[in-house]
Amino acid sequence: MSHKKHHSTTPLSQLLRLPPGKVRLAEHDTSATPGFPGKGKADAAKFTAAILPELSDLQERLYASSQADPENAPKVLIVLQGMDTAGKGGVIRHSIGLVDPQGVQIRAFKVPTAEERAHHFLWRIRKALPTPGMIGIFDRSHYEDVLVVRVDGLFPESEWSRRYAEINEFEAELAANGTHLIKCMLNVSYGAQHDRLAARLDDPTKHWKFSIDDLDSRAKWPAYAEAYEAALTLCNSETAPWHIVPADHKWYRNWAVAELLREKLESLQLGWPPASYDISEQKRRLAELS
Ligand code: ATP
Repeated sequence: MSHKKHHSTTPLSQLLRLPPGKVRLAEHDTSATPGFPGKGKADAAKFTAAILPELSDLQERLYASSQADPENAPKVLIVLQGMDTAGKGGVIRHSIGLVDPQGVQIRAFKVPTAEERAHHFLWRIRKALPTPGMIGIFDRSHYEDVLVVRVDGLFPESEWSRRYAEINEFEAELAANGTHLIKCMLNVSYGAQHDRLAARLDDPTKHWKFSIDDLDSRAKWPAYAEAYEAALTLCNSETAPWHIVPADHKWYRNWAVAELLREKLESLQLGWPPASYDISEQKRRLAELS
């Protein structure tokens, strides 16, 4: 991604949209800040807070639409992927945390349980999809089934290589059913990951965040990068595109995901559902009860 100054009216979703074609992560600058309207870290909190009133209003419209039409109200699903320390948790706290928690459904995908393993890989994903009017957040996702599975050889290649097409079909089905996907790859550099892991080891209040598995996956960085490149290249459709969010600056990453959500909600052009009752009749009754 280039450092060019972008016109401020270009939507962020367009600036961060991964173009179709073969992906090379090395070509994407992890410390870039495309579309950020301010100067940098010092004013990031101000610009993130500035999104809040509109985000709240839009989220309420989304929720209200499901009260009026429970079957057909849209759903939004943010898929968060990234190497360890890329900041999935930080985004959930700082960006998604701006939204009314009653309108958000967060799901984290860990190592599959025995029951989950007995089913098709999309089984647990389907069960976790957001319901109408809700914003779903996937902290890891079905992409783990072509990432860690591929890197660690948890299934033979004949199995995982089929999954890219299955994921595309699944995501097309979601889109057709009114689930609006925002797929975000939080793109952190090898160097920034080092610094974040070192900070965890240096700080007793962060020791709990460190896992020895983190270093095992760091040792496999090139294999993960290759697996990410394959997933990003093969599963980047018009209806379910990827966004590459530069993630070396936490303040940018958090602002960017909040703004991507705001843009997506705005694009739904949600009105307010009309009253399903006679307003003057209800006013009359209220006056009687005053
Ligand atoms: P975070 O996601 O915030 O980094 P974490 O790494 O602390 O959380 P863990 O309890 O380690 O959370 O669970 C995530 C682990 O689950 C990761 O190592 C991930 O690779 C693994 N995982 C997720 N989905 C699958 C899957 N389908 N198959 C195998 N492993 C998976």
